[in-house]
Amino acid sequence: MNRRTFLASGACLALSLACPPCPWIRNEAWAARDVTGEVFRDDAPDTLWKWSKEAFSYSRLDQGRVLCNVCPHACVLSPGDRSVCRNKINHQGSLYTLAYGNPCSVHLDPIEKKPLFHFLPGTSAYSLATTGCNFRCRNCQNWQISQKKPSQVRHQDLFPGEALKEASESGASSVAYTYSEPIAFIEYMADLAKLARDKGLANLLISNGFINDTPLRELCPHIQAANINLKAFSDEIYRTLNGGRLEPVLETLRTLHGEGVHLEITNLVVPGYTDDRDMVKKMCDWITDQLGPDCPLHFLRFIPRYKLDRLPPTPIPLLKDFRQLARNRGIRYVYIGNAPVPEGLNTYCHHCGELIIRRRGYQAPELGMEKGRCPSCGTEIPGVWS
Ligand code: SF4
Repeated sequence: MNRRTFLASGACLALSLACPPCPWIRNEAWAARDVTGEVFRDDAPDTLWKWSKEAFSYSRLDQGRVLCNVCPHACVLSPGDRSVCRNKINHQGSLYTLAYGNPCSVHLDPIEKKPLFHFLPGTSAYSLATTGCNFRCRNCQNWQISQKKPSQVRHQDLFPGEALKEASESGASSVAYTYSEPIAFIEYMADLAKLARDKGLANLLISNGFINDTPLRELCPHIQAANINLKAFSDEIYRTLNGGRLEPVLETLRTLHGEGVHLEITNLVVPGYTDDRDMVKKMCDWITDQLGPDCPLHFLRFIPRYKLDRLPPTPIPLLKDFRQLARNRGIRYVYIGNAPVPEGLNTYCHHCGELIIRRRGYQAPELGMEKGRCPSCGTEIPGVWS
């Protein structure tokens, strides 16, 4: 058994004794820290394939090394090395992505599934992903693609022009970059997003938000809506649960808001990790202070998955408590997802409490608004409605 398998097995008594006193966490937290910043040494294929493209943003260093400028991991790769996100390689002193035009997941989804509740409700999003992610979430629901290299997963041959054709013919109103982590396939996303915008389709960024400011600002003019997964309001939890850091994600939220991209936030409530009431309170205060009260917040229920399959699901009363807490802290539109709480999906006017959008799972929502206003009191409801 190698070290990582050993850590993940939950069998190491010595490490469990050294870990936080939570009855569920035990040694899982240590394994996530173990992979943060990992670069795969001498791991690149000998020759490039047709689904490769020179990388979006990088710098050449000495001795054939390159620095990837896309995300805060700042991978420095020698010739033959592969990035943390698993999609980029140093090929003979230049940086290439191997995730271009080869999506492994392509679906037509209701936009509510992203989740985006205040942006073109009832429309479809042509959704795609390649492999790869710059995080190592121990609860990842899509680990079969997010934690793989492009060569390890079956994929379609779908370059941006073809993807645009499919998206247009599908009747979708938007193209969503989702499922794994679009920052890990930014070259593919950027080229398709430009084409999609020219065709009148919106582009949706569904992301962990772990991206540097310069590439994000280059992307912003082509992105109309984003749902950023704010995983915790604690740098320590980001490092242990996700293999990331908090501050760059907060910076991404500020930038998207400042650039006028429609923004919603998702927060997964993981027992023993992100279910601390004080932390949620601080997160809500930060949102209202930095992004304003109109940024919708989705609390999602954790379901045991991947390396956290021994944790219980999030208790429903806790989700309801957090929803009320967020409202009390001034956030006007707070939702509960992944949970049997039917009214948790509905939109109520923040001024008079009138039900204005009723949602039943991913069925087409029933819209009660009139020109973006509450039919009862006339208050303008924040969002992009048509
Ligand atoms: S950021 Fe998303 S895709 Fe990446 S590991 Fe975490 S949950 Fe999975």
